[in-house]
Amino acid sequence: MSHSIEWRCPSCQHPHSQELDATDHLSCPECGHRQHYTEGTLGPAGAVVDPVGNCVVCGYERMFSQKDFNRKLGLLIVVIGAVLSPWTYGLSLVVCMGLDYGLYFFVPEITVCYGCDGIYRGFENNPKHRAHDPLLADRYRREAPGQPDTDTDVRPPAANET
Ligand SMILES: [Zn+2]
Ligand SMILES: [Zn+2]
Repeated sequence: MSHSIEWRCPSCQHPHSQELDATDHLSCPECGHRQHYTEGTLGPAGAVVDPVGNCVVCGYERMFSQKDFNRKLGLLIVVIGAVLSPWTYGLSLVVCMGLDYGLYFFVPEITVCYGCDGIYRGFENNPKHRAHDPLLADRYRREAPGQPDTDTDVRPPAANET
């Protein structure tokens, strides 16, 4: 299974989805920024360690795993079922909730970095990673490497401004 990551370029803030194999860095198609994988994230075979232990983008080891489930889509399916239920005597709602459950059951797990929101797909499940904890998420984000101490949103000037 191929490994991929959704990451946000620290230079231009654009989100990207890229393959993680056969290289030692991510390159931003938007601004050309090269994000080298953090230390210890490459295995002896030259591929990213699987299951992922440290974030290749920010180096943080706090991550959580969750189902790769689109909650909005799930909600939409149930809403459609509910809207149609007067004409189907409630059957559509039952069918749509079943569909939702089936979707949830079959979608794979993803690993998400607390520090930079990087999303890892195609990796083995790391037993160290638990479900998302909203109580710890804030603290973890502040503790993550490369995070500014304050909430000020200082963005570097765009490199390719004309
Ligand atoms: Zn960029
Ligand atoms: Zn990260």
